Amino acid sequence: MLNQLTISELTAKLARREVSAREATQACLDQIARVDGKIHAFISHNAVDALAQADAADKAIAAGEKKPLLGVPIAVKDVLCVKNQPLNCASKILGNFISTYDATVIEKLKAAGAIVFGRLNMDEFAMGSSTENSAFGTTKNPWDTTRIPGGSSGGSAAAVAADECIASLGSDTGGSIRQPAALCGCVGLKPTYGRISRYGLVAFASSLDQIGPFTKDVRDAAILLGAMSGVDSRDSTSVPEPVPDYAAALTGDIRGLKIGLPKEYMIGGLDPEVKAAVDAAVKKYSELGAEIVEISLPHTDYAVATYYIIATAEASANLARFDGIRYGARVDGADPIELYAKTRGAGFGPEVKRRIILGTYVLSSGYHDAYYLHAQKVRTLIRNDFLKAFEKVDVIVTPTTPTAAFKIGEKSDDPLQMYLSDIFTISCNLAGICGISVPCGFTKNPKLPIGLQLLGKPFGEASLLKIAHAYEQATPWHKEKAAL
Ligand code: GLN
Repeated sequence: MLNQLTISELTAKLARREVSAREATQACLDQIARVDGKIHAFISHNAVDALAQADAADKAIAAGEKKPLLGVPIAVKDVLCVKNQPLNCASKILGNFISTYDATVIEKLKAAGAIVFGRLNMDEFAMGSSTENSAFGTTKNPWDTTRIPGGSSGGSAAAVAADECIASLGSDTGGSIRQPAALCGCVGLKPTYGRISRYGLVAFASSLDQIGPFTKDVRDAAILLGAMSGVDSRDSTSVPEPVPDYAAALTGDIRGLKIGLPKEYMIGGLDPEVKAAVDAAVKKYSELGAEIVEISLPHTDYAVATYYIIATAEASANLARFDGIRYGARVDGADPIELYAKTRGAGFGPEVKRRIILGTYVLSSGYHDAYYLHAQKVRTLIRNDFLKAFEKVDVIVTPTTPTAAFKIGEKSDDPLQMYLSDIFTISCNLAGICGISVPCGFTKNPKLPIGLQLLGKPFGEASLLKIAHAYEQATPWHKEKAAL
């Protein structure tokens, strides 16, 4: 079935004219019609527009045009601006807002020929780990619809795992690409901070946010990363590092490379089946000729606390713009202050309010130095731990999550338990480095995907992808599909 293909498989078939972009797009739309009632990965999608883009791609192919993503249907998390499409961030507060411009990544994907369609469900404003904080309902895990798909990019992960698109985009502030990718059994890449322009990504925590791909294999992640990377004058934090040919780095040969195993990551709450899968992956790496080196990241214990100060502080500032005046929904009041309060009171969900209140508190005079400034200092220590480790190793390996997907509702009343599900992914954002999650096995009963996280040096995506790809190609996990 065409909707099950990877980007590299589909573009090869399109180039040989064995299939058309319209057929591939229709296959995705048919799958959405068949399974999305159960999964709810999409908040909305416009089939007419998707097919019109497909027809334009078919014309370009017939005219002999060659572009890396020509005719490939790619769906997008509801946090990225796509011109003339709705933008809600899974919140009520944006009302009927329609994007007036394309995010830089969308511009780049369109220029590469992609069919950009659909609004994928997420936790409101990307705050959460389960997609239960959406104002549009919860997304279900395709492997077990009584369970969460992870979050905040749960719709992006579920849509790829359920073959409702060929690939998708998400954003990762503390794990929101890698964690749902792990729980849904797909590949999720968080690039180095500054690798990809954030222009047109609705900001949650600006010093942590990065856009990245969800794909069915590592090669596709390399292809999408290449298409989206590069400096952008509209995002001053994007970095003018050259963009290598990431797919060319996937040689399969990792002999002599050094893989670091942090001793701090084998924590108490780690599920035994997850631990066994990661241990087996490490063994596989040594069989493939890599050298396993024990390393230490001594400030790991402080990562979750540090993140929840910095991320909430930045969120409280970023979300000030949703005031009922400029965007979306408005609840009128007798004066502007009442209008703001009523609009924000009605528009934001409970988790977003909790973050705004926490963030405002840690920035308030008298507490700023004790919390925010302190957290910034600890953040530097965490980054230094990684930079020191990377003097000795090429990548670091960890579980992506402490457990496989949990039940819907299991942690929704306990924010701290929910925050702890990101314990392995958060440090990467604080340090500004890159990370990927690849499938590394399944739990037995029920059968749920397990993810292996690899963390790489700043702008070290080429080696990260090469090492992830070598493992993927030596194991069967990425080929398994959820029964739907
Ligand atoms: N789950 C984390 C949070 O709730 C990370 C979210 C993200 O990466 N956007 O903040």
